[in-house]
Amino acid sequence: MTDEPKLKSHGRLTIQANAVPRDLMEPRHVKGAWVARVITLFPEAFPGVLGLSLTGRALDQGLWRLETLDLRTFGEGKHRNVDDSPAGGGAGMVLRADVLDRALVKAAEAADWPVVYLSPRGRRFDQAMARQWSQGPGVTLLCGRFEGVDQRVLDHHRIEEVSLGDFVLTGGEIAAQAMLDATVRLLPEVLGNQASTEEESFSDGLLEFPQFTRPVVWEGREIPAVLQSGHHGEIAKWRRAQAEEITKEQRPDLWQAYLDKRGQAKKR
Ligand code: SAH
Repeated sequence: MTDEPKLKSHGRLTIQANAVPRDLMEPRHVKGAWVARVITLFPEAFPGVLGLSLTGRALDQGLWRLETLDLRTFGEGKHRNVDDSPAGGGAGMVLRADVLDRALVKAAEAADWPVVYLSPRGRRFDQAMARQWSQGPGVTLLCGRFEGVDQRVLDHHRIEEVSLGDFVLTGGEIAAQAMLDATVRLLPEVLGNQASTEEESFSDGLLEFPQFTRPVVWEGREIPAVLQSGHHGEIAKWRRAQAEEITKEQRPDLWQAYLDKRGQAKKR
């Protein structure tokens, strides 16, 4: 039986027959590529949506690596039990500290990067965290299930808790994919057009301006004239003003933070 706990690597490094010289086709970044290591009871949920579009292509190209550890393989006894009822009573099941510890020790192999437990109690995930993760060598994400995990394993390994938002999911896998998506698209070369991550929402503290594309008139609504003017200075000014207006209206908290930051910058 080959149920020795192991890391499963996702992403296919496909070799295609085409005219591109071999050295240009070879995934250049596999060595030292950014690594996402995910501990989960449902490895089959990965790569999931991360296997599509830009993140999927980047995975195939070896711009990042996705490894899953199947928590079940670290389970206790013949049935590979991973959970038990909560101490002190109450509904549901809790993932066992000893089982999680074995998975975390395995995941720590050659992993000099943050270890995060996905949890509604955690610090709220945001663009700054995505950027920070993307600038390191990788991240290990522990996906909980049921009522969550035994507290002692979090304390023992000093694991940071990070939340996707103020709601409760049934498991950490969707949160992991959301956070990895936000992080991977910031890796160099993943998005064709680097400039697009600098202009979009949150990057400069403002939400993004409205976007339009053809047809020029749709249902009697025309694309704003300034965007059709070809005047780059005017367009940039209009977009800035729109971004400020939208942020002020839709996210007063972000707007205030933006003003504070600008005020400080002026004082310096
Ligand atoms: N009883 C827990 C919730 C458990 S939900 C509580 O009240 O805090 C089961 C698992 O889903 C959690 O262990 C966690 O890994 C994941 N999860 C649920 N909501 C999440 C969120 N908002 N962000 C990140 N992970 C979440």
